Amino acid sequence: MTVTTRFAPSPTGFLHIGGARTALFCWLYARRHGGRFVLRIEDTDLERSTPEAINAILEGMSWLGLDYDDGPFYQTQRFERYAEVLEKMLADGTAYRCYCSKERLESLRADQQARKVKPRYDGCCRELNKPPVDATESPVIRFKQPLEGHTVVEDTVKGTVAFDNAELDDLIIARGDGSPTYNFVVVVDDMDMQVSHVIRGDDHLNNAARQANILKALGVNPPIYAHVPMILDEAGKKLSKRTGAASVMDYRDAGYLPEAVINYLVRLGWAHGDQEVFSLDEMVEHFDISDINHSASSLNPSKLEWLNQQYLMTLPRAHVARHLARHLGDLGIDPALGEGPNLEAIVEAQAPRSKTLVEMADSSRFFYEAPEVYDDKAARKHLLGSEAVISALLSALTAVSDWQAATIHEAVMGVAEAQSVKLGKVAQPIRVAVAGGPVSPPIDVTLELLGQAATLVRLESARQWAIEHAEA
Ligand code: GLU
Repeated sequence: MTVTTRFAPSPTGFLHIGGARTALFCWLYARRHGGRFVLRIEDTDLERSTPEAINAILEGMSWLGLDYDDGPFYQTQRFERYAEVLEKMLADGTAYRCYCSKERLESLRADQQARKVKPRYDGCCRELNKPPVDATESPVIRFKQPLEGHTVVEDTVKGTVAFDNAELDDLIIARGDGSPTYNFVVVVDDMDMQVSHVIRGDDHLNNAARQANILKALGVNPPIYAHVPMILDEAGKKLSKRTGAASVMDYRDAGYLPEAVINYLVRLGWAHGDQEVFSLDEMVEHFDISDINHSASSLNPSKLEWLNQQYLMTLPRAHVARHLARHLGDLGIDPALGEGPNLEAIVEAQAPRSKTLVEMADSSRFFYEAPEVYDDKAARKHLLGSEAVISALLSALTAVSDWQAATIHEAVMGVAEAQSVKLGKVAQPIRVAVAGGPVSPPIDVTLELLGQAATLVRLESARQWAIEHAEA
């Protein structure tokens, strides 16, 4: 059997973390088995589906690197096919037209409620041979559910789930205007796209029985189901927009690498021993739907931060640099103009001290722009009274002919020794001078990256500042 999975989002909003996890699980399972991963946009709810949401989903998938082998298919482009299957089911007798008026259905419901029985369609039109004399011109079409017995869904995550067929009434599969309904189009698509494994949120577990029955009526074996428990917020409550049902793109904007987000997502509901960091290849190698957790997982932002830091340090520098460039762009800096140091060298210097790309971009700004103002506290502490040290640095660093971390280090050490002060007393004024504040990568690396000319200009400005403020 060729494994075929599908991700079938309804484009009513952005790609949120739960949807992205479903997509990832589907993708991993298909990749692991050398199968197909299909993207299907379930856009039949015309009122709630928007082109913006479709774009957001496609953008999110592409940012995460979840490539699909087929699609995107759009359900709104498949109405002819749905109509064809409806006709076939009517002809086969697995579906029927229901002419019951709204009034009749309402009074049926009221009666059932009064008798305290579960409201369900009573099958009035199920065995009609011809339309009633007062038939409406726009009957709905209902699926003929089996009347007795149980429908058993063998769910890979939930185990065996049995549904009493008496509880599943004859579902409307096409409305009076001919438009097909949700559970029906899912079935036709899963059949046509030869989906072998349906991996999705467990809010769809109840649909599985209905869908499996329709598939059987169409002569198709139902797929293997894996209904994945939901993701909860940090406090263990259902996710809401406010508590973190964030868009995948918000994670990008907050400075996370897609690799970190993917790794974070895979661990929200799946485990392989106690391993936390997985390369994509390792995920593909180990992922199995039978290992999906049975209970809900909770968001854990500090774990995402930790993972991000791991990936900032271990992924190829050129790759991180590409992502960093986008965040520098957000600060109005275009690293491609070649005015700053090599971006990969910045990544190397900053990775150990950055949790996110936003932090990395912020703390690398000074490589491109001289500080407009100094951090007040740091300047008072490290620049005031440092004129002599800065002057000595200016001459020592001017004299460096081969501008490299090692020679810079020697020059700075030489100044510390000559002034009989500890290295920190020399390094901190330099930091404030070049970076505006007390934090930067090691000073020799920082200065090498910044370049000799910019270093000297900034030291001179800092010396001036020290003189002006000493007089004040
Ligand atoms: N369109 C459904 C949703 O976004 C998913 C349906 C399915 O996976 O079967 O929740």
